[in-house]
Amino acid sequence: MGRPLEYNATVVGRTDLTDTLATFLIQPDQAPRRRPWFIAGQYCLLGLNNTEKPFLRSVRRAMSIASAPECDGPLEFYVRYVVKPTSQNPLTHLLWKLRAGDRIYVGAKVAGAFTINFLAADQQDVCKALARKDDDKFADIAWEPGPLGHPRIAGAVGYLDCTLHSLLPGGAHVIFTGFVSAAESNDAPPLIFHRGKFATA
Ligand SMILES: Cc1cc2nc3c(=O)[nH]c(=O)nc-3n(C[C@H](O)[C@H](O)[C@H](O)COP(=O)(O)OP(=O)(O)OC[C@H]3O[C@@H](n4cnc5c(N)ncnc54)[C@H](O)[C@@H]3O)c2cc1C
Repeated sequence: MGRPLEYNATVVGRTDLTDTLATFLIQPDQAPRRRPWFIAGQYCLLGLNNTEKPFLRSVRRAMSIASAPECDGPLEFYVRYVVKPTSQNPLTHLLWKLRAGDRIYVGAKVAGAFTINFLAADQQDVCKALARKDDDKFADIAWEPGPLGHPRIAGAVGYLDCTLHSLLPGGAHVIFTGFVSAAESNDAPPLIFHRGKFATA
């Protein structure tokens, strides 16, 4: 059960392709100024309050953005109605009651992309700062946003901008796999962490 959502977008179109597959065109009230503000393969959260059963409050689910990043119009989503949902408050059952003109919540951040920074041999302090459990790890680190808007750390040896492909369970960790959309590197010696010690190659 989620907190009540403040709606920030309007459903401007809906096409039922089958009984259980529909496209929804959703226009956010305020799209970010940066263009394009998402890239192919990203997703965002769609959310609705359950007004018929207010005790169930709200539900948010990830949905892949199907529209092209260069199109400035509404966001398009292909949504499958889940006949046997596992939650008490399935989003798709609320979504199927919506028509053009209805209001909806769209998460402000699109996700599904990440940037990998390869640190240089002289960036041990940066590595230690990022390893801390701190709310603002980037406070003392010089960086600028790359093409995805994610941090590219100044002085790093290289960067990989990726769109998310899958999340795999890896013991106590989650392994992210991605498609590389941009890559850069220089000849500085890299920072390596091996057997509990910093090293370089
Ligand atoms: C990154 C990401 C992107 C996603 N993009 C889309 C998208 O573009 N379109 C879309 O329809 N869904 C998408 N989903 C799934 C979506 O987030 C919800 O899980 C789905 O809509 C069911 O939500 P619900 O609240 O109605 O059902 P819930 O009560 O949450 O029930 C979930 C159950 O439905 C099953 N389920 C989830 N999706 C489907 C499906 N498509 N068909 C059949 N069973 C399903 C789950 O395995 C689970 O058993 C995406 C999920 C993720 C993590």
